[in-house]
Amino acid sequence: MDRTKFVSERELEYQRECTERVRAMNAGMTAFVDTYGCQQNEADSERMRGMLREMGYTIVDDDKADVVVINSCAVREHAEQRVLGNIGHMVHYKKINPEQKIILAGCMAGEETVRQTVKKSYRQVDALLDTTSFWRLPETLLRLYEQGGRLIEHAEPDSRIAEGLPVVRTVPHKAYVSIMYGCDNFCSYCIVPYVRGRERSRDPKDVVREVRELAADGCHDIMLLGQNVNSYSGGGVDFPELLSRCAEVEGDFTLRFMTSHPKDCSHALIDAIAAHPKVERHIHLPVQSGSDEILRRMNRRYTVEQYCELVDYAREKIPGVIFTSDIIVGFPSESDEDFEGTVELVKRVRYDSIFTFIYSKRAGTPAAEMDDPITHEQKVKRFRRLMALQDEITLEDRRPLIGSTVRVHIDGESRSGELNLTARTQEGRLVSLKGDSGLIGTYADVKVTDITTFSLIGELK
Ligand code: SF4
Repeated sequence: MDRTKFVSERELEYQRECTERVRAMNAGMTAFVDTYGCQQNEADSERMRGMLREMGYTIVDDDKADVVVINSCAVREHAEQRVLGNIGHMVHYKKINPEQKIILAGCMAGEETVRQTVKKSYRQVDALLDTTSFWRLPETLLRLYEQGGRLIEHAEPDSRIAEGLPVVRTVPHKAYVSIMYGCDNFCSYCIVPYVRGRERSRDPKDVVREVRELAADGCHDIMLLGQNVNSYSGGGVDFPELLSRCAEVEGDFTLRFMTSHPKDCSHALIDAIAAHPKVERHIHLPVQSGSDEILRRMNRRYTVEQYCELVDYAREKIPGVIFTSDIIVGFPSESDEDFEGTVELVKRVRYDSIFTFIYSKRAGTPAAEMDDPITHEQKVKRFRRLMALQDEITLEDRRPLIGSTVRVHIDGESRSGELNLTARTQEGRLVSLKGDSGLIGTYADVKVTDITTFSLIGELK
């Protein structure tokens, strides 16, 4: 259902006024945006950096900066503890620079329990700014400077979209384009719908305009983002149509998207990928489990059979397409038989790679209340078995690529050893190679010399 509302021009104008007022009092201050979690957070951080730069801050990579925005992730409790640990550490910096402003943004800022914890125990945090209201960053900073105090009172999630925010991209040839926000799916283990609000889609004209501007700017790698891109519904346009419109934009770029929910992934989407060579030959389709009973308890709303039908259809229509997936091992009450279902599914689909997680309880979700008689040792054993199986499949399916030539986009520097560059094939596979860093942002033909479970190893031709 298309129920999107937009932040009014008058409110955005007020943010611009606040930007100017902060800029007027800003004499060479620095700002750092520290990002945790998914690509959606990366995309939000790029916009927060854009706003901070317009307010006159120099963007740095240092948590002693005059403004520190922690763009947090709430998906796992472990990640939350890490964020709180880092905030705890920052109390020392604030003693040295009492004027420093610390803002907790992202998913954690939308959780009531976190708000209470921060209010009582993390007094160094000056403001909370959840994912639905980060466009108010200029107003937030201005209020902190002019009025002092802390801005950590409860705020209802804002169910609107703010268009036209400035952006500082981390890498010039790579861009994230958010096409929608929030999620309506309420998978029983997931906190996202509670902290990112209900689904709302951008206007297709705004999305296509942004893709056109990026392509004209020489951007080669454009990723359309949403918690569930397949339920995009903006201005009467669905996701297959939006993907086609973006792929028809002139320019030399690869179009990718993340994340697809199998219940909404349609033949029409697969046909749209098949029809447009600019769209990556890769579908990340998180299955989560190979047991219908576990899928039902997860509230995923598809069956293993429906999932496999989609995979078969895509393989028929898109030659060479690869699949990747997310899988949760040890969901509450997962029996040996349920787990064997997952093993069989992995053997059947033959993913290029999978992201496997041991289920971890997330307070505030229905799954956290479910009985869970499975021991941690059992879960670890299953996890290891699945990883070993996937490694075997990955290596078997990549081995025939040795000796072949693949076209890649060189997209960054690697921190590991001699193979100093990273690149991606048209299927999105990672390639490690050696070369001049001046090649970053260009296309090249590469001979595959070896393979690992992590990447292809290549040599420039
Ligand atoms: S689709 Fe499910 S797992 Fe994904 S964000 Fe929405 S609720 Fe979470």
